[in-house]
Amino acid sequence: MAQVAIVGGGATGLATAFYLSRYAHYGRHIVKKIILLEGAEDVGGWIQTTRMPDGAVFEHGPRSLRSVGKSGINTLELAEALGLEDEILAVRRGHPVMKYRFIYMNGKRHAVPSNLMSAILPGPPFNQSLVWTLIKEVLKAGEKGLKDDTIHNFVSRRLGTNLADYAADPVVRGIFAGDIRELSIKAVAPELFEFEQKHGSIIVGGLRRKKEKLELSSDLVKKAMGEKWGIWSLKKGLKQLAEAMEKDLRKRNDVEIVTGTKCQGLTFSEGKVKVKTEKKEYTVDHVFSTIFAPNTAQLLPIEHVDLKKKLSKIQAGTVAVVNVEYNGVPMPDPGFGHLIPSKEPEKNLGVVYDSMGFPGHDRKDKKSQRFTVMLGGAWFNKLFGPPEYAKNAEIEDAALTSLRNQLGIMEDPERTILNVQKNCIPQYKLGHTKLCDDIWSYTKENKLPLSLLGCSYKGVSVNDCIYNARLEVARVFPDLFRPT
Ligand SMILES: Cc1cc2nc3c(=O)[nH]c(=O)nc-3n(C[C@H](O)[C@H](O)[C@H](O)COP(=O)(O)OP(=O)(O)OC[C@H]3O[C@@H](n4cnc5c(N)ncnc54)[C@H](O)[C@@H]3O)c2cc1C
Repeated sequence: MAQVAIVGGGATGLATAFYLSRYAHYGRHIVKKIILLEGAEDVGGWIQTTRMPDGAVFEHGPRSLRSVGKSGINTLELAEALGLEDEILAVRRGHPVMKYRFIYMNGKRHAVPSNLMSAILPGPPFNQSLVWTLIKEVLKAGEKGLKDDTIHNFVSRRLGTNLADYAADPVVRGIFAGDIRELSIKAVAPELFEFEQKHGSIIVGGLRRKKEKLELSSDLVKKAMGEKWGIWSLKKGLKQLAEAMEKDLRKRNDVEIVTGTKCQGLTFSEGKVKVKTEKKEYTVDHVFSTIFAPNTAQLLPIEHVDLKKKLSKIQAGTVAVVNVEYNGVPMPDPGFGHLIPSKEPEKNLGVVYDSMGFPGHDRKDKKSQRFTVMLGGAWFNKLFGPPEYAKNAEIEDAALTSLRNQLGIMEDPERTILNVQKNCIPQYKLGHTKLCDDIWSYTKENKLPLSLLGCSYKGVSVNDCIYNARLEVARVFPDLFRPT
């Protein structure tokens, strides 16, 4: 009978506790006690939602989850298990929010080609026909035998520098808030890297890819597939997902959630782990650390200096998230939002047109339009100085200026909420997968009863965090997943 501790109560930590507790009763109750330690007063980590008394919902972290792929399906199954089916706000794939995305360059927003005609004709944001670019990609020999590459090198080689600068660059800024000249293609888009290595071309690899047979066991997943959902959120914002996991866990006798208590150290001896907090010391059989890798490094004892060094190498970007609400301004052409290539002289990474995807999050007492402006990321210090010294007024001004210049919104906003999210998105730089492999090898060779999970390693999306938590629980306690 094992006792385990989980460090961190974000999406990953909560999901780890959920899978450990949910499946324990199928097996031989091999996990007797699960202790989840969360340093903040509240669970959720980067999942942060503000709910206004007038019904408006503002997200300061993730705002939507994709419903496709293994990890997307897995989160839908989780939502169903938590009884959230009727709380979902789904955006179907045919909706303009899913069809239209814009790139802002040279003072204008340009729609990314979304149909064959626009893909055949050359025109901004790209300087040649997308179809022609793809034909050339198939004909160009692949550079095989590479161990890794930056996204910029990879996309420039396969599709040309124009697509690297005006497609890959803004898209990666939108997801990782990172610089494609530094980020690793193997870590960020492993499938694309594999396609070139195995088939010499990303198009050929994509066409030859065997379609995975996904098991659609859940009613909610079947509904999402049937109705062709693209993305989804929850009526009370994504924090509702964290709250539902917490509520489910608090009902269980085998789970103890301790908030407002930081883990301060981990020591390993005779197959056990001592987990130190400011108030107490727990002795457990296994620890799942789900916090940012360099913070895990600080918890480890000096004898594991090699592991500490490796974990400390993973860096993260700071993003300023500015939620802006207007009353009665004209909305731009429908779409998810616009992204801005790093070559442009703008201060923001992009703008999400929140009211278009999730009008259910608008205030209920009068008409309003909500936008989120994201700024900084890999460019934060250059633009605003170190996060500790960055001036809120300067960031807010940059956000409102970008809405004026890019969307022509001249009115003063009704509400503005600014959050500087320090070190919030880990940057998977060149060599990241090798670094992770070295980290896993170290814990394996040293037989450490320690699992390293969360957004620092294998995917930053909430879906990836939850799915990786499930895989790791199954790896450490395989019996939990085998009904007896
Ligand atoms: C601005 C922004 C927008 C995003 N947008 C999206 C999106 O639209 N869709 C999407 O899928 N993903 C999005 N993401 C990514 C996603 O939200 C995160 O990667 C994910 O929530 C990370 O979850 P986690 O549990 O791994 O880590 P975290 O959320 O960082 O959780 C770790 C937890 O550990 C706690 N902690 C830290 N140190 C200690 C300690 N010593 N002891 C105890 N507790 C500790 C922290 O307080 C925190 O609660 C976004 C992220 C950000 C920042």
